[in-house]
Amino acid sequence: MNTELDLSISRRQFIATAAGLGATIVLAPRLVFAQKKGIVPTMIDDAAQAKIETYPLRRGITVLEGSGGNIAVLTGKDGKLLIDSGFSVSKTRIVQALNKLSADPITQLINTHWHVDHTDGNEWVHSAGAAITAHENTKKHLSTSTRVEGWQYTFPPAPTGALPTTIFSDEHRVHHNDTNIALKYYSPAHTDSDISAVFEEADVIHVGDTLWNGIYPFIDYSTGGSIDGMIRATERNLSVVTDKTIVIPGHGPVANKAALSEFRDMLTTTRANVAALKKQGKSIDETIAAKPTAAFDAKWGQFLITPAFFTTLVYSGV
Ligand SMILES: [Zn+2]
Repeated sequence: MNTELDLSISRRQFIATAAGLGATIVLAPRLVFAQKKGIVPTMIDDAAQAKIETYPLRRGITVLEGSGGNIAVLTGKDGKLLIDSGFSVSKTRIVQALNKLSADPITQLINTHWHVDHTDGNEWVHSAGAAITAHENTKKHLSTSTRVEGWQYTFPPAPTGALPTTIFSDEHRVHHNDTNIALKYYSPAHTDSDISAVFEEADVIHVGDTLWNGIYPFIDYSTGGSIDGMIRATERNLSVVTDKTIVIPGHGPVANKAALSEFRDMLTTTRANVAALKKQGKSIDETIAAKPTAAFDAKWGQFLITPAFFTTLVYSGV
């Protein structure tokens, strides 16, 4: 099956469907706008305007929200360690937020995966003094021109300074600021480059884009992602956390085990609904029209990934 073709056709069809059924499909204006303008330019424009919100967690760990994916910061005598670097358009405001945390320089950066909303700031963070660690597939995708069909966008190779200098294939450990940080590859999930990062003493885990807390996730089939990979990753996340663990998602507010459970239930129910419709022989348009995500839309459908787009992403993988 040609997944890339499915995605591009269904997006055009979705715009046509939404226009024809304007009275029954209610989308926030910026969601309609994102469909026309493209998701990547919309994310960059959002980041260019957004305030950077700071959420202190525990044991020197803070989350910065507002520039693409959530950025985790660990402060201390060895210098700041960042997990993900957001969009470069936010550099000035990210630097201001970091300076308010402490005067330590940035010395380490870890990327949860290769996507632009988590790595676009790599070059400036590296210039500021950080060594970059990531999964080997993050380096692979950043090193070459890479198409993301679901975003209808082709990324040029990243500049040399943005590339990870330490890469690994399965597991890697970092000791920084009296903290053990365990990095572990998921196997293909949201992409083929996703890793989790556990701050062991603090009992805090950054799960990257294997969790979108309270919003439908993007799944990047072009670089190895799939709905089944997302479900597998979520099951693993659930298996390694307790009720006390703080879970940092790639997108959305800081989460916990209950949020992971709710996300897993949304993914598995949507997958079952879409698979049943596809098995009946329904086309992607007929599947979208059957509203397989209806029970979740009011809560989960309010961000860039609309119910119809999410349905399309699941349909491509069942
Ligand atoms: Zn991503």
